[in-house]
Amino acid sequence: MAEIKVPFHKAAITKEEEDAVLDVLRSGWLTTGKYALEFEKLFSKALKDENIISLAVNSNTSGMILAMEACGVKSGNAVITTPYTFVSTAACARHLGADVFFADIEKDSYNIDAVKIEEILKKDSKRKKPLVKAIVPVHIGGNVCNMKEILSLAKKYSTKENKIYVIEDCAHAFPALTDLGCAGSIGDVGVFSFYVTKTITTAEGGMVCTKDKKIAKRMTTMRLHGMDRSTWDRYTSPKASWEYDIIAPGYKFNLPDLLAAIGCAQVKRAEKFFEQRKKIAMLYNQAFSKLDFIQLPPDSKGNAWHLYLMRIKPEKLKISRDEFAKKMQEEGLGISVHFIPLFHFTYWKQLYKDFTAENFPNAENQYSKTISIPLFPDMTKDMVEYVIETVKKIGKEYHK
Ligand SMILES: *Cc1c(COP(=O)(O)O)cnc(C)c1O
Repeated sequence: MAEIKVPFHKAAITKEEEDAVLDVLRSGWLTTGKYALEFEKLFSKALKDENIISLAVNSNTSGMILAMEACGVKSGNAVITTPYTFVSTAACARHLGADVFFADIEKDSYNIDAVKIEEILKKDSKRKKPLVKAIVPVHIGGNVCNMKEILSLAKKYSTKENKIYVIEDCAHAFPALTDLGCAGSIGDVGVFSFYVTKTITTAEGGMVCTKDKKIAKRMTTMRLHGMDRSTWDRYTSPKASWEYDIIAPGYKFNLPDLLAAIGCAQVKRAEKFFEQRKKIAMLYNQAFSKLDFIQLPPDSKGNAWHLYLMRIKPEKLKISRDEFAKKMQEEGLGISVHFIPLFHFTYWKQLYKDFTAENFPNAENQYSKTISIPLFPDMTKDMVEYVIETVKKIGKEYHK
């Protein structure tokens, strides 16, 4: 193994996070409590919409299950999403017993194609009882999907009997301020991730956000065992702490204060992290725009720049993406590939027999060219330069 010169990611942790965690440890109340409430408040504020209700959860995956469940996704109906995502987006629908209808991505971005969504909706609307309950766009790399079009499709195909919800997978899109508002406040529900490599982290964690009070109430109940009161409330209110009712078979998806404390410190610096990532992304863009074997990542207003999705041009190189990636690793660069389209996975291709690379040419094409390169707030100028020089060097050596 080559010595790592630039890691793929390193969480930006300071004394502020350390002090917050110690404070929780010393308080004697380690699980969901005042820090989680504070984190939710700060997060709502960061989404710049006073009507947003944020609920802290222990992962994006948990949040996605809560969001889908609250929107009525269940056995016998379906959601539309993209094959170009992390597997949890689609798996959550399966946990609830629903089917997944996949729509290919746009030709040049990594985001779900509204035209493909409409094809599915049109076909579905001809069924005696339409199946689609939700559309789940994923803002890949932090570049926000065509939400205007997606919202208008959801509205167009909703009926009195069947409302179609839009649930944004915002695992990459914080903060992402577009003309329609922040990602996560545009659709019916937004689901964020604070996994360690994401734009802010709590080690593991997530946030689920909505302006719909009914959805918020359902998600609050289902987040904690289907209880009508939170544990924090039970132990801090003057009413007898042992009293509660169970109104549904709920989950155990709450975020403990030990992790929420890290989130409070992180969310305050989210804008600063964003500026730092964007600056690095622009340095990459500037350098790579001069290289004929690199295609720049897609970009649009509000891009959170969670990932730098570097695309190699196969027609200009003698080596494949896999080989290019391996060369980068050999030079000590931490890299990754986001994402392996879901039709490459055993479970998914066995589940749907027409779920193949041939039927999703755009997803397959982007996947075959893409390498995620290091992009994190604390990257030094030397690190950025080393990444650029290494890409140049490999490209030069294997140029056609
Ligand atoms: C990371 C990620 C998730 C899952 O987030 P967790 O917090 O680990 O559950 C979901 N969707 C996308 C697009 C992701 O990148």
